[in-house]
Amino acid sequence: MHLYNTLTRQIEPFSPLSDGIVRMYSCGPTVYDVAHLGNMRAFVFVDLLQRALRAVAGYRVRWVMNITDVDDKTIRDSAVGSARWRAPMGEQSDDLRANLRAYTMFFEEEFKRDLQVLGIRMDHFEAMPRATDYIDEMQHLIREIVRSGFGYASEGSVYFNVGAYAQSHSYGRLFTIDTANFREGVRIDADEYDRESVSDFVLWKGRKDSEPYWDFEIDGESLPGRPGWHIECSAMSKELLGLPFDIHTGGVDLRFPHHEDELAQCCAGYHVADQARFWMHNEFLEVEGKKMSKSLGNFYTLRDLEAMGHDPLDIRFALMLGSYRAVLNFTFESLRAAATARGRTQNLIWDLMDSASITESVDLGGAMPEDVAAAFADDLNVPQALARTYEYCARNSDARTDAVKAREVLGALQRINDVLAVWTFTTRPTIDVPANVRDLADQRWTARTAKDWSEADRLRNELASLGWSMKDGKDSYTLQPLS
Ligand code: AMP
Ligand code: ZN
Repeated sequence: MHLYNTLTRQIEPFSPLSDGIVRMYSCGPTVYDVAHLGNMRAFVFVDLLQRALRAVAGYRVRWVMNITDVDDKTIRDSAVGSARWRAPMGEQSDDLRANLRAYTMFFEEEFKRDLQVLGIRMDHFEAMPRATDYIDEMQHLIREIVRSGFGYASEGSVYFNVGAYAQSHSYGRLFTIDTANFREGVRIDADEYDRESVSDFVLWKGRKDSEPYWDFEIDGESLPGRPGWHIECSAMSKELLGLPFDIHTGGVDLRFPHHEDELAQCCAGYHVADQARFWMHNEFLEVEGKKMSKSLGNFYTLRDLEAMGHDPLDIRFALMLGSYRAVLNFTFESLRAAATARGRTQNLIWDLMDSASITESVDLGGAMPEDVAAAFADDLNVPQALARTYEYCARNSDARTDAVKAREVLGALQRINDVLAVWTFTTRPTIDVPANVRDLADQRWTARTAKDWSEADRLRNELASLGWSMKDGKDSYTLQPLS
C-alpha cells in the first residue's frame, strides 16, 4: 500500500516494522458528550484504513484507540451539581474520581454504540484504553522527561520545556511552526492552543479545589494533580504498542499541538527517534464552510440523524465518499445521494442472490477485482474504488440471469465490502406490497406479455405515482418502493 505521511508530507510505500503485523494507534474521543458526525468522519476513516490493511494488504492489525476520560471538559461536566449529570449515571458522591468515572462511562458506552451502528466492529480493536487507567505510566514518563532536562515543576504543575527540547531535537515535524512565535518562558495550561501560542505546555496540572486528583511525587516534591491531555497518548501508545509503532491517526486539528507534543514527549522521555513511522490525518467534515463542532453549535449526532429516519449505513457511506484528505461538506442532499447509490448496489446484491438461489449469508470465497484493490492501496482512494466497483458490476450485468456469474460477482462484492462495510448479504427484507399495487403490477405484467407497450407504460407511471417501481425479470417481476 501507499499512504500519505504527514511526517514527510508525501505519499510513501507502506510496510510494517514487524513482519505482517501493523501496530496502529488512533486518537479516540473525549467522552464528555456524545460524538458528532465530524468526529465520526475521523473514526470511519480509520476503520476504512485498518480494514484495507487487513483485506487488501493481508496484514494483521493491532489497533488501539484511546478514550480520553480526564481533561478540562470531563472534569468540568462531572463536577458536583453539574447540569449535565444524568440519572443513568447514578448518584454523585464525595469521591470525585468515582464521579468522573461514572460520567465518562456513560458517554463511552454511547460512543461504542455509535461505532457499532456505523459498522465499526469492536473485535477489530486490540484495546480501548481509558486514560485514567494509565496514570502510573504517565507519571513515569513525566519523571523521565524531567530527569532528562526537558521538563520542570512550577507552582504545583509540571511543564515541558520546548526551548530546551528544540536545541537538541526538531520541534515542528508534523506542523510547520514559525519559531518567531515561540514565547520563551511562557507556560500554557490549556490542552488546546493555536500556533500563535507555542510555549511550554503542561504535562501535569496541579490540583485545584473540588477537582479529582492523583498523588504524584517528583524528586521528593509532592505534586497532586492530573495529567495533561498530550501525555495520555504518549504513555498509552508506548505501553500498549511499543515504540516506534507503524501508524498514528487523528483529525487534522490534532497535528498541532496534540500530535507534535505527543511526539516530543516520546522523544524526550523514552529516548526514541520517533513515536510512529506514519502519521495520518483526516480532513474536516464541514457544514456550510465551517468545521462541524460542538463549540460552533452546527453539529448533528448520529442519534439526531437516526431519529430523522436515516439509515446509519447511509451515513457511513456518505462519510467515505470523498478523499479522506479533502474537506467534506455535509448536506442532507449528499446524504440522500449516498443512500440512493448504496441502495442501488444493495438491490443488485439481492438480485444476484436470487439469481444464484442463495438464501442466507455465506462467504463465497471470492476475490477483490485487482483494479479495485489497487485503488484502496493508493492512499485509500475510496471514490476510485467505488467507480471501479460500479464498472465491474456494469461489465458483468448478465450475472442477474446467470447463476454461476452471479456467485462470482457476489463473491467479489463481499471482498470489497470487507473494506467498505456498507452492504449486507442477508436475504432481501420482505416488503408488504399493498393489494392495489399488486393488482396494477399484475395488470402491467399481462399487458407486457401481450406486448401492449403503451398500456404497460401507463401502468408503470401509475405505479410510480404510488411510490413503487416494477422490475421485469424473465418469468416474473419484483416490486420495490422508490427511495
Ligand atoms: P475529540 O473527541 O474532540 O477529541 O475528537 C475526536 C476526533 O474527531 C479527533 O480525531 C478530531 O480530530 C476529530 N474531529 C473533530 N471534529 C471533526 C470534524 N468536524 N471533521 C472531522 N474530524 C473531526
Ligand atoms: Zn491522542
